[in-house]
Amino acid sequence: MGTTYGGYMGRVVQIDLSTKEITDYPWNDRERELYIGGKTMADKILYDNLKGTETAFSDENIVVISTGPLTGTGAPSSGRFNISGISPQTGHIGTSNCGGSFGYYLKRAGIDALVLRGRCDTHTWIEINNGAFVFHDADADGLWGLQATPAQERLHELMVESKGGKDLRHGQLVIGPAGENGVLYSAVISDERAGGRTGMGANLGYKNVKGIVAYGNHAFNIKNPEKMKVWNAKWFDYLKNHPLTGSQLPRLGTAGLVSSMQMRSMLSTKNYNYGQYEDFEMVNGETLAEDYNIVNQGCLTCPIKCARTVNVNGQEVKGPELETLGLLGGGILNNDLQKIIEWNHELDELGMDTISCASTIAYAMEANEKGLWENGLEFGKTDDLSQLFEDIAYRRGVGDDLANGSRKCAEKYGGKEFAIQSKGLELAAYEPRRAVGQGLGYAVSNRGGCHLNGGYLVILEGLGLFTNPLTAHAKPDFTMLFQDLMEAISATGQCLFTSYAFFPGFLITRPNGVMTTIFNAAIPFIGGALRLINKFPSALAVHLPIFHHTKAMELAVGMPLKFGSYIRCGERGYTLERALDCKFGVSAKDDTLPKRLTDVPQDPNNPKTKVPLDKMKKTYYKARGWDENGVPTQKTLRKLKITG
Ligand code: SF4
Repeated sequence: MGTTYGGYMGRVVQIDLSTKEITDYPWNDRERELYIGGKTMADKILYDNLKGTETAFSDENIVVISTGPLTGTGAPSSGRFNISGISPQTGHIGTSNCGGSFGYYLKRAGIDALVLRGRCDTHTWIEINNGAFVFHDADADGLWGLQATPAQERLHELMVESKGGKDLRHGQLVIGPAGENGVLYSAVISDERAGGRTGMGANLGYKNVKGIVAYGNHAFNIKNPEKMKVWNAKWFDYLKNHPLTGSQLPRLGTAGLVSSMQMRSMLSTKNYNYGQYEDFEMVNGETLAEDYNIVNQGCLTCPIKCARTVNVNGQEVKGPELETLGLLGGGILNNDLQKIIEWNHELDELGMDTISCASTIAYAMEANEKGLWENGLEFGKTDDLSQLFEDIAYRRGVGDDLANGSRKCAEKYGGKEFAIQSKGLELAAYEPRRAVGQGLGYAVSNRGGCHLNGGYLVILEGLGLFTNPLTAHAKPDFTMLFQDLMEAISATGQCLFTSYAFFPGFLITRPNGVMTTIFNAAIPFIGGALRLINKFPSALAVHLPIFHHTKAMELAVGMPLKFGSYIRCGERGYTLERALDCKFGVSAKDDTLPKRLTDVPQDPNNPKTKVPLDKMKKTYYKARGWDENGVPTQKTLRKLKITG
């Protein structure tokens, strides 16, 4: 173990929960160079240890909790951690990225990542003190059964008690009742932040792990501390002065996108039947900011501070993000913002992903409306939703079906064409029939219908820039580039929102300027040029002035990454993740969208308003070096050094 690089603590710990045996997981500098950290590191560990026959709720499933080398270095928006394993929702790779304090304090405990194997035989919480592990009884300590905030408060109390009244600073993650009861889309919560997607909370629940606390006094080894300090200051300034990361996100958070999506008919409405919601102004970011927001908050070391703080029953809590506003607003025809705020808090407390939960309920409402499933749920009738959330978390009545997500409900009751998911993971609130590149991303995303893992092309197609959102031209190449870029950012331990500052500011502040118009018009025609970049990224052996990540890796870690090699790391990670998916049988047949999005034009008078998926998929596979079945070829795996 150990490392010659800065940034890392040099230790990856493997815990056999069945036997409580602690061992060091072998992870060397060559692996750090190839897989950096965070999500990509987790992919590599899972790829090396899983055969493809394991299931999420089995002792053979492995959960990896990992940080990146920039976590704790003071780099902007770097206080994050990743959690990966087999997803109970999709049956293959599941990953979720989370803010909160846990990642930072895990490193203070001297550890870069945890590899959890097996299963505790009783309800347990784990204490990590400077690299030493103690397993505690979560029943005797009154933790099991608690919601997310009381669970974290109880952990804090227990820590203070055990230190003779001394309040040591620590980080923690917990699951809520949903994770304990095996709701397939259960979240992991750290402070007020959620790692919501793909059901990692249910994996911890299966393993009988209620929470993990980490603390310690290990120092961060930064290769060039003086220069890194200067670089970070410059980077903070850059983000603060950029129109997206310095103005729009701090002012309105992601909630600010509701109005932009409405304008461009991209706001999922009535379970994706439509792209506009007539009452959108009652549930948009502007109304949230004016009537409810108390203060902006952010994760550790984040200058962007995209999180809202709102008041619920006299308590200051985290406000809803765009996805929650969209899916629990127009998605179910609800125009009561106060209710969305309360539901958002309730879902966090129960430990459930708001996207999958809301979308599954919207599917159930439509199934009821169409007479496929008599469940009492109706669009616009929302008085009993709080009770329904509890019923889902505790798997009671109709909640027991809803706890399995929209794909499984549709398999049971029918209506597959309007269960808005891909590979079992529900889509976010961006309606892809008006942003077809985003549609491709949802379909090919390794972790299922995810806007971010899918490349987030919607930012090009109307939420930042204004490229033709209905053309398939260049979209596969952009999808690959953006996926690889975000994969690398995630691997270093940073928030993906730092990539928003990649777009020159004038493109956003002067949307009708000559340069912006030329830029937007040219984008659909630069597929060939992008293909060259995607094929030969090493040619870009430079630090780009608008992209600070690579220089930070050089100064903090001592890894000589330039823009091209950084993208190559992202490509390696994304392809490795796909190769892992392929072990579980994923192929082109799974890169799909519900028929509503591919076969039914959103505007009956405009046949272009649907996702031309098959056409884009072929180009995408080719650009990636995957065969026509969507499987990475041996040549590609060798080129990326995934295999020898
Ligand atoms: S931009 Fe938002 S989500 Fe990302 S690190 Fe900052 S506060 Fe957290």
